[in-house]
Amino acid sequence: MTVEVAEERVFPSLSPSRAGDFKTCPLLYRFRTVDRLPEKPNADAVRGTLIHAVLDRLFDLPAADRTPGSAEALVEPEWVRMREEWAEVTGLFTDGLTEEEFVSGARALLGGYFAVEDPRRLEPAEREIMVETLLGDELILRGIIDRLDVAPTGELRVVDYKTGGAPREAFEARALFQLKFYALVVWRLRGRVPQVLRLVYLKDAEVCDYTPDEEELTRFERTLVALWQAIERATAERDFRPRPSRLCGWCSYQDLCPAYGGTPPPYPEPRERQPRQATGSTPIELTPAEPGPVSA
Ligand code: SF4
Repeated sequence: MTVEVAEERVFPSLSPSRAGDFKTCPLLYRFRTVDRLPEKPNADAVRGTLIHAVLDRLFDLPAADRTPGSAEALVEPEWVRMREEWAEVTGLFTDGLTEEEFVSGARALLGGYFAVEDPRRLEPAEREIMVETLLGDELILRGIIDRLDVAPTGELRVVDYKTGGAPREAFEARALFQLKFYALVVWRLRGRVPQVLRLVYLKDAEVCDYTPDEEELTRFERTLVALWQAIERATAERDFRPRPSRLCGWCSYQDLCPAYGGTPPPYPEPRERQPRQATGSTPIELTPAEPGPVSA
């Protein structure tokens, strides 16, 4: 007797960070995603991770206790936890930056947060959640949303905290791309287009709200499909070209980049890839995010 085993389809996945890398510079995408080259810990990125953790913990407290003092009190224990779990961060303090300066910089960002939002008046529906959905029966879109607010009337607001020290205008397009990516995933998961996409710039103490609509997100979906096809083409041809821009100033790989006189390492041979599996177009549920670094 022959037993037929149904073959499970496996799908590649794309996150907003990796999609943003390819859009910014295909070679940057290659270094991060194909070569998987390590990057030196960056003070802004690590501080961003710390602040995201503090704001997440803050919303564990009863609403009335979510004060600036409570948030500040969370910085030290969260920093101790991060140092224990992520040994590389001690490498931050070799080039003149002291730990005290680093921690006080984090406290200053909290000041920026309280200048634009009052967490005592907010009750987020979700925080630091991994979201994913299947796009076009060919690609999993996956990312971590900092916060999802749901109004009593059902409107959704996707919130992203930005903590980086880089000039804001250099990253604005990338940040909006990331939020539209989340908006598309949330729309697919909840059947409702988010009313507001909110960027909270902690360093500048500013909020940028953006309202997407179905038509725009449908166009954005087509853009993502085209982007994924470009990534697949570049992978098949092993052709990831440098695209110099202002963002090169924040790239860890200048030494290896031909645009700066460097030579990339040999293209790595394909390794055993184990993409996440999905068996149909049913949206995958919202799930708690794994702890780890987040984009600043
Ligand atoms: S230095 Fe600039 S051009 Fe070169 S890989 Fe990095 S981002 Fe791309």
